[in-house]
Amino acid sequence: MSAYKCFHCGSKIKSEDLNKRFVCPDCGSRIFFKPRTKMKTVTSD
Ligand SMILES: [Zn+2]
Repeated sequence: MSAYKCFHCGSKIKSEDLNKRFVCPDCGSRIFFKPRTKMKTVTSD
């Protein structure tokens, strides 16, 4: 299942939730982006 991320506060929102109401439940923003399925975390000393 795909999920979106709020561009404003970074909350994860399921696509099925966006079908009902296309706003972020946390901050009310309407800008979302689809994060990559796999996120790479790189740490360097
Ligand atoms: Zn938000």
